[in-house]
Amino acid sequence: MPEHTIIRVAVPSPLRRQFDYLLPRSVGPAAPGQRVQVAFGQQQLVGIITELPQSSDLPVEKLKPVLALIDSQPLFDTALLQLCLWAANYYQHPVGEVLHAALPALLRAGEQAALATETRWQITVQGLGLPEGAPKGAKKQANLLTFLRAGARTPADIEQAGFSRAILKALGDKQLVEAIEIAETQTFNGPLSELALTLNQEQSAALKAIKPTGFSTSLLDGVTGSGKTEVYLQAIAQQLEAGRQALVLVPEIGLTPQTVARFQRRFNVPVGILHSGVADGGRNSAWLRARAGLDRIIIGTRSAVFTPLKHPGIIIVDEEHDNSYKQQEGFRYSARDLAVYRAHQLHIPLLMGSATPSLESLSNTRSGRYQHLKLSKQAASEHSTRIIPVDIRAQQLQEGLASQSLAAIKGAVAKGEQALVFINRRGFAPVIMCHFCGWQAKCPRCDARMTLHRQPYHLHCHHCDHQRRVPQQCPDCKAPELQHIGQGTERTEEFLSKLLPHTPILRIDRDSTRSHKQLNSMLDQIATGEPCVLVGTQMLAKGHHFPKVSTVVILEADGGLFSADFRATEKMAQLIIQVAGRAGREALQGQVLLQSHHTDHPYLQLLLNQGYGALADCLLRERQVVELPPFSFMVILRAESKRPENALQFLQQARAKAEGLQAPSPQFRYLGPLPASMEKRQDRFRFLLQLQASSRAQLQQFLPQWLAQIEQMALSRRVRWNLDVDPQETH
Ligand code: ADP
Ligand code: ZN
Ligand code: ZN
Repeated sequence: MPEHTIIRVAVPSPLRRQFDYLLPRSVGPAAPGQRVQVAFGQQQLVGIITELPQSSDLPVEKLKPVLALIDSQPLFDTALLQLCLWAANYYQHPVGEVLHAALPALLRAGEQAALATETRWQITVQGLGLPEGAPKGAKKQANLLTFLRAGARTPADIEQAGFSRAILKALGDKQLVEAIEIAETQTFNGPLSELALTLNQEQSAALKAIKPTGFSTSLLDGVTGSGKTEVYLQAIAQQLEAGRQALVLVPEIGLTPQTVARFQRRFNVPVGILHSGVADGGRNSAWLRARAGLDRIIIGTRSAVFTPLKHPGIIIVDEEHDNSYKQQEGFRYSARDLAVYRAHQLHIPLLMGSATPSLESLSNTRSGRYQHLKLSKQAASEHSTRIIPVDIRAQQLQEGLASQSLAAIKGAVAKGEQALVFINRRGFAPVIMCHFCGWQAKCPRCDARMTLHRQPYHLHCHHCDHQRRVPQQCPDCKAPELQHIGQGTERTEEFLSKLLPHTPILRIDRDSTRSHKQLNSMLDQIATGEPCVLVGTQMLAKGHHFPKVSTVVILEADGGLFSADFRATEKMAQLIIQVAGRAGREALQGQVLLQSHHTDHPYLQLLLNQGYGALADCLLRERQVVELPPFSFMVILRAESKRPENALQFLQQARAKAEGLQAPSPQFRYLGPLPASMEKRQDRFRFLLQLQASSRAQLQQFLPQWLAQIEQMALSRRVRWNLDVDPQETH
């Protein structure tokens, strides 16, 4: 028997391969899913064992022994390891980086996978054997023994009950009590803490259609306020009663304390929370607690799709159309799509919900791959909210607002209600310009204008974060005054504050909510129900439940009608409907005013008159005709470089290699290299090459061969490049 086991290790490196090492048998038994510390070039890295191969391509003498075996038990269970390997292959991303992405930061850094424990004192077998009242002549000791007969207690509990340390020590010395270390945990406390609502007919039909066991995918397609969350809660209740866990994915900015509170009010079980606002230690323990089966509900953003579950019961993806489910850098995965794979692998139901489902998911309901469950009415409101187009062509606007919109805002406030103004641009004004010579403030590093901010006063590039002082006069012609053109949230806030001096104006955008605390204090103020006007970006569009908002004004949302991105119209419609959904959610009649220069555009007409579903149908038909996703499968190879010719040449060579493997045909199409829609960003010139295939299998077979060739190209080491499978952004 050899003294070493050969182990194959995935390390976090951009190299698309794994490496073999030796694990001395004396160190411990090896299994896939354990972490090891290894020497890798000049570095020491934390790698993950993926398999125990019979032999290595290298002679055994050449293999290095690992520096340490970190885990005595696999950290990744078989299912999670397999999910990561599959994802690495599907997205053509290095396995080691994928495995690292699945871990919380502390485990990634090699920290022990130990749950926080606490000490409890329990009565020993010997102690249990004593009769009531023993030990005789030591009344306090006898009382403490009686106290501990009911169950193990923490030192704090014991102290609080009036027993001193000396008494505890005396019993310990007699071996009648002992200290144990257990994972901090609450157990399932049985009854629900808030009663479930009686489902309406559509809700109960939906719930019934979701089989609690076995794999299925359901799309809960329900207008905002139709009670989708109530269906999630009741589907989760079934799982909890059966002793299983629920994993709930929410969009990045949808994970507010209000969301979490909704789950905690309903269920008396430990809930784990995983998102970027949770500190490293908290995320680590939530991950480990889910893995140990202690947390019964896990709520998290994108990367929570990789949470290990001891007793998987159901996966829920709320607002499945949301962009934040797709990671846009590094490992470019879609958490929604991986959730489908995961549910299939674990043989459990997946429930996705949205008021504005993605065309991908709608298309999957058509083909019968997903169940289509519909909720057509608001659950708690008698009214239905209408979206009224406001044609602003040739209208005199006041700081971007039409007189009809202003009247509606004032009217709402006068009635003691709240109003919301949506404007998808932060800062004061997107353009600052000289009226005499036409000079504009442009970012020196990007093909973009700089936005004027007032709080604090500066110019800011929203693409690379470059900041500079605001010039006092025109840098070109020295004219003394510069004009501020267009609207940002700060400007609207300032204008409304003057117009309504006695009403609080709350601006909610990335600048005003740098910390979770700032956002939460504004949400608390809104929740008081006092009249106020909210001014905000798409941060306001998602998930929030504002019962006192009756009036919504949408300033600029129709840009999507004329964009180069084939998804732009879909995204525009989703945004309009989501923002509109903030109005009239409870007792109040809602009204939504949509300001546009294009109120008679057929897409807007369809959306406003027949709803999101009708527009989605129309867009799907168009995509089918031109064979765009979801009717074909797309990948984009992007390249950027300080020298534009390098990036361009890299993509030209990559295209030539690709055509060598797969000749262009109607089933396998090439587009590009093209300049990206913002060609220069952060001093780099950006280009892209688009591939579209009719068959996913064919594309998947092609990709690894192509990448192997790309990696051989000298230019591949001189430009930054990446591959995006199923890209969300295509320009
Ligand atoms: P969605 O998630 O679809 O936006 P919610 O689940 O937040 O909708 O429900 C909107 C409102 O309707 C909430 O106030 C909720 O308590 C209420 N609601 C949901 N289902 C019911 C029901 N069956 N009966 C009464 N009220 C309901
Ligand atoms: Zn000038
Ligand atoms: Zn810039």
